[in-house]
Amino acid sequence: MKVFIATHNQKKLKELRRILEPMGFEVLSEKDLDFPIPDVEENGTTFEENALLKAHSGLKHTGFISVADDSGICVDYLDGAPGIFSARYSGEGANDDKNNQKLLDALKGVPYEKRTAYYVAAIACVFPDGRQFTVRGECHGHISEEMHGNGGFGYDPMFISEKGCFGEISAEEKDKISHRGKALELFRDELKKYI
Ligand code: IMP
Repeated sequence: MKVFIATHNQKKLKELRRILEPMGFEVLSEKDLDFPIPDVEENGTTFEENALLKAHSGLKHTGFISVADDSGICVDYLDGAPGIFSARYSGEGANDDKNNQKLLDALKGVPYEKRTAYYVAAIACVFPDGRQFTVRGECHGHISEEMHGNGGFGYDPMFISEKGCFGEISAEEKDKISHRGKALELFRDELKKYI
């Protein structure tokens, strides 16, 4: 059975391939198609809605079971911002450095105990027969007052988890407790119920 993964991110593709291939699926990404899939406007209001929008676009254009994800970081002191806007937090021309700086500035003077935050990863799976499901993984921690390490990506150098700063711990340690690691595990369990 073929599954289409609606992402341009090679790391996400690799992670999902590692789960789906041993389950007997043939994994396809846009590179395996001879036509382009137009980018979807991520205008949902939740991580799950945005993941579903991307997955439905994949299904519409390929006809195969389609999988997509959406992720970001929610800061309690900022009422959940940047949330679904994490990648584009600093606006036009946003990148990791600008996003991190904007978050540091937004939390200037806020004491550590009030700097709680959590990463979210949602994965959506849609089937040609109309069935669909989403799963969600979260990882809770704090936003530090300065950057630590240069591991990971995005907001990792300022995210303090129970195992230390995501910018400083190894990728293996991060995978064990991360939002994405948890969502991938839930995705595997849920998918088994559908096949
Ligand atoms: P997505 O690719 O649309 O899901 O956007 C995810 C955005 O959320 C990234 O650009 C990062 O800013 C942030 N993000 C999500 N997961 C992580 C993570 O594990 N570490 C650091 N930043 C993350």
